[in-house]
Amino acid sequence: MDGRQELPLIANGYTTEIELRRDLVKFGKWLYRLGFMPGSSGNLSVRVNSECILATPTGCSKYLLKAEDMVLVDLQGQQLSGSRKVTSEIGIHLAAYHSRPDVNAVVHAHPPLATGFACAGRALDEPLCAEAIMMLGPVPLAPYATTGTNELARTLASLIPGHSAILMANHGAMTYGDSLLDAFLKMETVEHFAHICLVAHQLGSACPLEEPAIEQLLEARTKYLNNAR
Ligand SMILES: [Zn+2]
Repeated sequence: MDGRQELPLIANGYTTEIELRRDLVKFGKWLYRLGFMPGSSGNLSVRVNSECILATPTGCSKYLLKAEDMVLVDLQGQQLSGSRKVTSEIGIHLAAYHSRPDVNAVVHAHPPLATGFACAGRALDEPLCAEAIMMLGPVPLAPYATTGTNELARTLASLIPGHSAILMANHGAMTYGDSLLDAFLKMETVEHFAHICLVAHQLGSACPLEEPAIEQLLEARTKYLNNAR
């Protein structure tokens, strides 16, 4: 025992910490296999309770991680337990947990097409694809800031409240949601949308949706989100 006070788990449907650890392993492997977290890059976290989160540690392939490798961190980024070291990118995760009480999980990854957009200074905010508007809404581009710095967390903090996913200039992407599955599905959709945008522009005739169609989709999205709550 590490003397931690036992608080109820927030993340939906979970009753024990080991379930959260196993889901971090599962979604980490999935993201690695998709090529979104090559080498030891990218990280995932999940809210454990009102005071702490579990996160993947620094410097590890997400394909090889085990449940016992995860680190427990408080909402100020201080490591509470775990034999491995907390990632220097924990600030990305904390920015989401601080500004959105409804967020229970965060994924930060480097999917190649979405990161290509981020490296070309391009947001994914063109209304090209109905599914992306429904699932994500516009994905903005946060200005570049060095990874691991407070400046990066600050640039993200202003965008997190109004969006579901964010591209980080010359770096990668972050998604967040009410569960690890939700954050994972959003990351998968960001990359899929980046692929669609790239193809539409390569074909030379990308056709954005008209304003009334966008409004209808956004209305449907609001209904969908309200029903999901
Ligand atoms: Zn990164």
